[in-house]
Amino acid sequence: MTILDGKKVSNDIKNEIAAEVQKIKDKGEKVPHLAAIIVGNDGASLTYVGSKVKACERVGFESTLVQMSNTTSEVELLEKIKELNENPEIDGFIVQLPLPPQINEQKVLLAVNPDKDVDGFHPTNFGKMALDMSTFIPATPFGILELLDRYGVETKGKHTVVIGRSHIVGRPMSILMGRKGFPGNSTVTLTHSHTKNITQITSQADIIISALGVPNFLKAEMVKDDVVVVDVGITRVTDETKPRGYRIVGDVDFANVSQKASYITPVPGGVGPMTIAMLLKNTLLARERHNNI
Ligand code: NAP
Repeated sequence: MTILDGKKVSNDIKNEIAAEVQKIKDKGEKVPHLAAIIVGNDGASLTYVGSKVKACERVGFESTLVQMSNTTSEVELLEKIKELNENPEIDGFIVQLPLPPQINEQKVLLAVNPDKDVDGFHPTNFGKMALDMSTFIPATPFGILELLDRYGVETKGKHTVVIGRSHIVGRPMSILMGRKGFPGNSTVTLTHSHTKNITQITSQADIIISALGVPNFLKAEMVKDDVVVVDVGITRVTDETKPRGYRIVGDVDFANVSQKASYITPVPGGVGPMTIAMLLKNTLLARERHNNI
């Protein structure tokens, strides 16, 4: 069994990006600049955004964190997005999800300039992705592809089962694994909460990508020998023995499933760090678009 070590691979990618940034600096050009908007003070969201800003510093990008209160109106947020769209200093930006209930998420995603949409959530970018055109691939699916690629995991002709159909992970993942190319060329089954007999489906899978957010959902008896397992799930579970009072748990019963798997991602240290690394990669791409490189 091989661990798909997202922590290590994401560090390799960050080093590669840092080397690119050095070349940009050596040429006297402006380094990439990523901005992040966060609305409210949800603990997990603040942690994610904090990690993204830290990662920018680590590779030499400029970063801007825009913090807005929980009572921010939709109009105020749209105004801020317009500002970032028009700011020539900013190459790309993200709006951290989820948003408070008074704000319509779809309106917000549509307001982001697709050329600065480094999350790849805008319909223009999602459509391009689905049509195999060059674009920003959402960071989590992009990170999973990169991990499979760097470990040389064969996907061609394999049966890939994706659990969860969210717009940010499951749905794009199912499209990407079924596309022509590598990683891709899989036969894909997309499952969700209405799927019947899911064990029958997962037990026929060569590759399982689990993104539902239910701790320890995928058990050893649901998978076949030598399966490749990618665990996207991140759930905070109360744990008084930890200094923060919680621990992070994935969707997969790692202790038992890893006994049968050929490759598996750990949680933490798997998909999470890859997501951040690929957001940086998308920002590098946004800078190129911005400067018509
Ligand atoms: P989400 O929007 O929370 O949706 C969950 C999906 O799982 C839905 O499609 C739902 O089906 C499906 N589902 C729920 N129960 C199910 C069941 N019993 N059997 C099969 N499918 C079921 O998904 P998300 O935003 O993609 O998040 C999923 C998990 O990944 C969360 O733990 C999240 O924190 C984590 N995540 C991690 C990263 C990372 O960087 N590692 C990034 C993003 C998300 P319906 O559509 O029918 O409701």
